[in-house]
Amino acid sequence: MKKRILVLGAGFGGLELTTLLSGSLGDTVETPPKPATSSTPWPGRSDSASCSPHLFLGVPKHRAPKVVEAAGLTENDWVLVNPRTLETRFPGVYAIGDIAKTGIPKAEVFAEGAARAVASSLIASLGGRGQPELNAGAGSCYVEFGGGRVGRVDVDFFSQPSPVSSFQQPSASLCAEKERFGSSRRERWFGGATP
Ligand SMILES: Cc1cc2nc3c(=O)[nH]c(=O)nc-3n(C[C@H](O)[C@H](O)[C@H](O)COP(=O)(O)OP(=O)(O)OC[C@H]3O[C@@H](n4cnc5c(N)ncnc54)[C@H](O)[C@@H]3O)c2cc1C
Repeated sequence: MKKRILVLGAGFGGLELTTLLSGSLGDTVETPPKPATSSTPWPGRSDSASCSPHLFLGVPKHRAPKVVEAAGLTENDWVLVNPRTLETRFPGVYAIGDIAKTGIPKAEVFAEGAARAVASSLIASLGGRGQPELNAGAGSCYVEFGGGRVGRVDVDFFSQPSPVSSFQQPSASLCAEKERFGSSRRERWFGGATP
């Protein structure tokens, strides 16, 4: 029987991890085509009828979901991991992306980097291919300036003795690069379909 890997959460980290594992281990390991999802009620409210705004924009408290806490994985709202391997204290259990306490900021590019590290580790151990890569803790973030201009920050948070970064001034070419970055992810994770 094929081994089964469940990736919970179809965010940036989950999508990148599932895409890499399906591509490399699809013959021997069963990974769902896309990460599992579930719908949960609005936190703390069962009376949705009494709260029906025309538009509500909100960002809930940033912390690991209750299901992860209930599994005993969290400490002070986050999952403690080895920042370089993303291993938790439970053998065979990894945490990537925002949920993991790695000491670096929570952003898409770092979720994706962590996904690559875990995928390489699983592909090496389960598929016998390649070498496990460590989480680089480095990446680029685009900054919108409006008027068709975008800047870029490149940063390496694991650089010693301290993190290093550089900033590229906003330009039209970086705006085009950001567009390509986004469309490449849509193509990679959703096969070109609009999610
Ligand atoms: C307002 C806002 C703006 C941001 N802007 C930027 C930006 O410009 N650039 C940038 O790099 N980062 C940005 N970020 C951060 C970025 O979105 C996160 O770092 C990134 O999404 C983390 O990816 P992830 O895979 O760890 O988690 P998420 O993308 O949050 O994915 C987690 C997934 O798990 C699902 N999930 C949760 N609970 C359950 C459950 N019980 N069962 C199943 N599924 C579940 C969620 O629905 C979600 O799909 C922004 C964040 C916010 C809130």
